[in-house]
Amino acid sequence: MKATDYFDRSQGNTLVSFEVLPPLKGGTMQDIFDILDPLMEYKPPFIDVTYHREEYIYNRRDSGYYEKIAIRKRPGTVGICASIMHRYGVDAVPHLICGGFSKEETENALIDLHFLGINNVLALRGDARQFETKFVPDPGGHKYALDLVKQIKDMNGGNYLDSNIESGAKTDFCIGVAGYPEKHFEAPNLDLDLSYLKQKVDAGAAYIVTQMFFDNSKYFSFVEACRERGINVPIIPGLKPITSKYQINSIPRRFFVNMPDDLIKAIVGAKDKDAVKEIGVEWTIHQSKELKEAGVPCLHYYTMGDTPTIKKIIDSIL
Ligand code: FAD
Repeated sequence: MKATDYFDRSQGNTLVSFEVLPPLKGGTMQDIFDILDPLMEYKPPFIDVTYHREEYIYNRRDSGYYEKIAIRKRPGTVGICASIMHRYGVDAVPHLICGGFSKEETENALIDLHFLGINNVLALRGDARQFETKFVPDPGGHKYALDLVKQIKDMNGGNYLDSNIESGAKTDFCIGVAGYPEKHFEAPNLDLDLSYLKQKVDAGAAYIVTQMFFDNSKYFSFVEACRERGINVPIIPGLKPITSKYQINSIPRRFFVNMPDDLIKAIVGAKDKDAVKEIGVEWTIHQSKELKEAGVPCLHYYTMGDTPTIKKIIDSIL
């Protein structure tokens, strides 16, 4: 079923959904099942599985020179999605990115998904590779998520890259895209960022999942700004609990989001690691309750493999 069908049928009840990362290469499907098995009692409508582009590593040779090697540390997104659907009978949403794909490769990936019966996809641009200062598309690849949305929409209309294909099978993907309550870090301002978000929705995106945020007022004003601009699709809040002191620096550095003073003061003043985690969990519980009361269609948790923490949060809001 399509992600948006779940939102339509929820009759005002707030659903919970989860995002998981593929295990590091060498891991197993059991690693994912261990994360998800205990979460299935909450009847998530769908599980998102992230996609990870290749990264460069440098190996020192005997000669002293360094050899640059491209490796994908977390492959397996499509296989994991199929396996999740098979085991739990729940929909899986693979993340599909522009980086690392030519248009042809994107088309082939979409055909694989279609044949596997996966009809939801989160269409993203992806970030710059490690050690690169800006995002560079692959030769013949898409520069923006907007272009990826358009390609998926074309396939939904039975239009493939090869114009000789007449009456090609129509796919039926429900397309989600990313939104940034505190704006995407590259955008000069929120207004312009929202105009691109609107283009993604106008091109066929049926829902938006937000970047994590720690201040609900940012989400509420983002939704308001979207509605004012005629972006009327469901906007699903993405939530991540802070579980270590280190994250008060690493999360803003990596995701370009702000943290409220009260949260920072509490974490800095916490007596030990357990106290930090408790503060982070309580914060997300409070966020979740407020968002639920506001009637959001779904709370989307970035699990980061920490099932006990996510369970604690959801048990407190049900
Ligand atoms: P875009 O919508 O293409 O926007 C990128 C930037 O370009 C923005 O600054 C925007 O304002 C600007 N822009 C957009 N369209 C245009 C245009 N037509 N002309 C000029 N400028 C434009 N990354 C991964 O690698 N794998 C994942 O699995 C993954 N999952 C994610 C899930 C969520 C919910 C979120 C919020 C992010 C995720 N990311 C993932 C990170 C994401 O790929 C990065 O944030 C990336 O930098 C931007 O992706 P986007 O799809 O928002 O890009």
